[in-house]
Order: sequence, then structure tokens, then C-alpha cells
Amino acid sequence: MRFVDFLIPETLDEARAALEALGDRGYAFAGGTAFQYVSDRPGATAVDITRLGLRGIDQTDGGFRVGATTTLTDLVRYQADGWVLDRVATRIPTHQVRNVSTVGGNISRLFPWSDLPLALLVLEGGVVISDGEEQTHAALEFFTAQPLNRFGHGDLVTAVTLPAVSPPLGFGFKKENITNAAFALMTGAAAITLDGERLAKVRLAANGALAVPQRLTAVEDALEGRAADPSLFAGAVEDGIGGLDWRGREGMSDEFARHLGGVILCDVLEQALQAAKGEAE
Ligand SMILES: Cc1cc2nc3c(=O)[nH]c(=O)nc-3n(C[C@H](O)[C@H](O)[C@H](O)COP(=O)(O)OP(=O)(O)OC[C@H]3O[C@@H](n4cnc5c(N)ncnc54)[C@H](O)[C@@H]3O)c2cc1C
Repeated sequence: MRFVDFLIPETLDEARAALEALGDRGYAFAGGTAFQYVSDRPGATAVDITRLGLRGIDQTDGGFRVGATTTLTDLVRYQADGWVLDRVATRIPTHQVRNVSTVGGNISRLFPWSDLPLALLVLEGGVVISDGEEQTHAALEFFTAQPLNRFGHGDLVTAVTLPAVSPPLGFGFKKENITNAAFALMTGAAAITLDGERLAKVRLAANGALAVPQRLTAVEDALEGRAADPSLFAGAVEDGIGGLDWRGREGMSDEFARHLGGVILCDVLEQALQAAKGEAE
């Protein structure tokens, strides 16, 4: 995408008003690391949204609220009990991209390699959107379609919310790429909530080898309510992922992608179970 103008508003109201007035020609510009993947629009104007006071991480009752222009490096550096987004953000290449790329930018326009949506999906986080008033949308619903298609002109993501993770809730995340700076071949995330020796809730999501981040409900349904026994994972994953549209990347076949998907999804389920039990990973 090429721009004919660049605006730098200082408040959320100013940014929203500029984007509303520009309509289809307006482009919310956060870290600006994705505009080269977006088709040209005649007369496009970038509206910088990094000076609106939307950067920072706050602890809330039971979790965190992360401002939309918080950078991926901020996520890596932040430390608090129950904080897991550092594990996800640190796998997004490279340090240069992490320094400018923002939470809002990572979740508003989805790509096959988008990582933060996986964590928000499995942890049942929230996405806060301002259309003048803030409304929180459940991540489980927000990521069922390309988010940008549901925004009105001027609507902006202002924050995301997620729970603090501690037993009996456990989180798992894994990503395979050919080199440190390459896009993912396959990424998986899981969250498991235990009720004693039972899998009370299972959330599982994949990307990289799929077109967009996707929740894997067939696997979740097959495991929920069953014994917290990792030997059940391989069968449930094998049965639950066959019908998905697996896409091999970086010269790998689709069949390789499906197989890699199965392996990684078992890994993240095992990680999440171990963490839910409070065992060191
Ligand atoms: C070489 C390279 C490799 C990468 N690898 C990965 C990877 O493996 N995993 C991964 O997750 N990411 C990866 N990324 C980053 C990812 O692809 C996006 O570029 C990045 O997350 C977008 O963040 P940004 O702040 O730069 O957004 P921008 O580029 O500024 O914006 C992205 C889109 O979101 C919109 N937008 C931005 N903020 C908001 C908001 N608050 N409200 C509404 N709309 C908004 C913009 O209008 C635009 O359409 C990679 C990027 C590069 C360049």
C-alpha cells in the first residue's frame, strides 16, 4: 500500500474523527509493519495511532488489560504472575519487528502467521473496540472472521484483555519455523482447565499451516470431561484435524503440514496439562 498523506493525531477522538472522515481512504497505522502486505487504495492516508495513550499493561481483577499500541517487545519484557504473552511475543520475528509491531496491529488484520490471536482464543480473552464507546468482544467470537471487515470507519481496537494463568488453568504454545526470522510453518496454542483429575475445559487453536487462526472445536469436544491423561491427546487430535484445510509452506507439502500440525497440537496440549497441574515445564 502506498500513502499520499500521513496524519499524526494526539487523542483517540481526533484519530477516530480523521478515520471516519477519510472513510475507505483512511488507514490506521500502528507499527506499520503490515502495510506492504495490503493492496493499494487510491489516495490512501495513514493515520498514526501510536500517540493516543493506548500503550501499556495494567493488572485487573484476575487478569490483564493490554493497550492496543503496546509493542510486542513490551509484551516480552513485562513480568507478572500469570503473564504468558511474553512466551508468544518472543517467538514473533524479529526483534526489530517486535520493537514497533503492536498488539492491535497483530490482531486486527489476520495473516496465516498471526500469533497473538491464538493465545487470546484459547485463553478466552477479550478485544476492546471503540466506536466512540468501548465495547468488549469475546475473542472466541472476534476471530471467527477477518476482524477488519467488521470495523466501521473510525472504529479502533483500544485494548485486549486476558486472564492471569495459574493452576488449575494451564497454557501451552509452540511454533515451528525454518529459521528464526521466517514465517511460521505451524503454530499451536492450548489452554486446559482441570477439575481434579478431569479435563474440565480444553481450548485449542492453530495457525501457520492454516489460512487464518482457527479454533479446533472437534478436538476440544473429544477431550472435555475426560480423564487428564495425555495418552488421550494423540487420538483426539488425529480424529479432529483431518478435515481442516492444511497448507504446507516454505516448500513443505500439505500432508507434511497436517502431520506437523498433529505433532505440535499434542505438544501444546501436554504443555498446558503440565502447567494446569502446576508442574514445571
Ligand atoms: C518479516 C515479518 C515477519 C513477521 N512474522 C510474524 C509472525 O511470525 N507472527 C506474528 O504474529 N506476526 C508476525 N509479523 C508481524 C505481523 O505480520 C504484523 O505485521 C504486525 O503484527 C502488525 O502490527 P503493526 O502494529 O505493525 O500493525 P500495522 O501494520 O500498523 O497495522 C496492521 C493492520 O491492522 C490495522 N490496525 C492496526 N492497529 C489497529 C487498531 N488499534 N485498531 C484497528 N485497526 C488497527 C491497520 O490499519 C492495518 O490494517 C511479522 C512481520 C514481518 C514484517
